[in-house]
Amino acid sequence: MAERFCGAIVGAPALAYLAMPTAARMWQDGLWHRLSVLTGLLALSALVCAAVLPSRLRSLNRAFGIESVIELHRYLGVVTTALVFAHLACVVAADPRNIALLDLTRAPLRAQAATGATVALVALAALALLRRQARLSYEVWRASHIAFATAALVFAAVHVLGLGQLVTDTVFATLFALMALLVLMVFGYRWAWRTWGDPSTEFVVRDVRRENKTVSTLVLEPRRRGTGPATSWAFSPGQFAWIRLERSVLAEEHPFTIASSAHDGTTQFTIRHAGDFTSTIRRLPLGSPVWVDGPHGAFTNDSDEAGGFVMIAGGVGITPMMSMVRTAAHRGDRRPYRLVVVASKPEDLLFRAELAQLRQHMDLEVTEVLRRPTRGWSGHTGEIGVELMSVVLSGAESPETFEFFICGPPALVTDALSVLDLIGVAPQHIHTEQFDFA
Ligand SMILES: Cc1cc2nc3c(=O)[nH]c(=O)nc-3n(C[C@H](O)[C@H](O)[C@H](O)COP(=O)(O)OP(=O)(O)OC[C@H]3O[C@@H](n4cnc5c(N)ncnc54)[C@H](O)[C@@H]3O)c2cc1C
Repeated sequence: MAERFCGAIVGAPALAYLAMPTAARMWQDGLWHRLSVLTGLLALSALVCAAVLPSRLRSLNRAFGIESVIELHRYLGVVTTALVFAHLACVVAADPRNIALLDLTRAPLRAQAATGATVALVALAALALLRRQARLSYEVWRASHIAFATAALVFAAVHVLGLGQLVTDTVFATLFALMALLVLMVFGYRWAWRTWGDPSTEFVVRDVRRENKTVSTLVLEPRRRGTGPATSWAFSPGQFAWIRLERSVLAEEHPFTIASSAHDGTTQFTIRHAGDFTSTIRRLPLGSPVWVDGPHGAFTNDSDEAGGFVMIAGGVGITPMMSMVRTAAHRGDRRPYRLVVVASKPEDLLFRAELAQLRQHMDLEVTEVLRRPTRGWSGHTGEIGVELMSVVLSGAESPETFEFFICGPPALVTDALSVLDLIGVAPQHIHTEQFDFA
């Protein structure tokens, strides 16, 4: 779905160009020249799409889900690089003397810019592939990713502006102006408005609650301006937001799922102390400001169509499920909720008391599974298998109408997906979220 949507956007400028009467003039210039124009145009629109996709457009993330959006962004990055090399090959094939354009000391500005854009794209691809091997921290990777992406866009714009005969053509000029406008509007919204202008992003810390040794819950409420009312915000259970501790475009931002009910007065994030940022969060003083960019994502059960829900959570991956069951309790949802919680040790099982309470008010069953059971543990142990799923679904009426949600470490998501496949759950009823899309 998202792929088709993006394919249409990437292909539209090239198709529009082909359909325009002015394009006929270009056809007289030979096959390679035509192909160089088309590959260039396709590369440019793929680059623009790749840049716009991860720009936190909430409606886009809600429609397609953040995982699909990021996957598509990566895919378009590869496609853009391949198209740029195809464009280069066509330019040289159209006239072998064009190879001289690669000599940066003598090449005109438009060709220097084209080389700059190509180098920036190759650097982006190399960084993406080598991040884990090179053990680059997320922050260093993100800063260099943004720097190279900006360089690729700026160099591409300089290259296009330097192609005299193209920008003077009305069709091309209109297409380029529309692309530039799209990029400026989306970046303005993402970097300027959401950082400095949008009051709905401002929150204050009302509480920081320890859940266990390694997990805390950050409780936020919207910031009030003077005596006026606090800004309101709405989200669907299961969605996430990016949290920042400073109002600056340079501030570190990290994504966390909203764990509270969609109808709560406060907004809560349950956070595992994974590194420096998450450890800072647990020490935040009450009343300190926090900026929340969200809600994002399509990992939500906010639909009346499903007959019930099976939710498989690993570790802190229980946060979206908590939002779903808390919201269901608020709404008096009578549908069956079957929650499978996988943890290493008993002390890693979060929200046990609250879940026991919720079970008294709604059709909720919780199946706890320990990877490393302690002596005396009589519950389930080991991997998620077909046997466990049949226990979870036993007694459920019309399980074919259920929606399945999986959130946790990659290995758990993979295991759960293969079990659901074995028991015949159709892929369109399965929703996954992994806490790492870097
Ligand atoms: C959609 C989504 C929802 C999430 N929800 C929760 C949640 O509810 N509770 C929770 O405890 N954790 C959640 N996470 C994970 C959380 O974002 C990371 O644990 C956190 O960013 C780690 O930051 P750090 O500096 O403390 O640790 P680091 O040691 O810097 O990072 C640990 C790992 O987290 C990943 N990471 C770091 N920063 C980011 C970032 N800005 N964006 C994406 N990944 C990053 C990297 O792969 C890194 O290797 C979620 C992640 C995603 C993508």
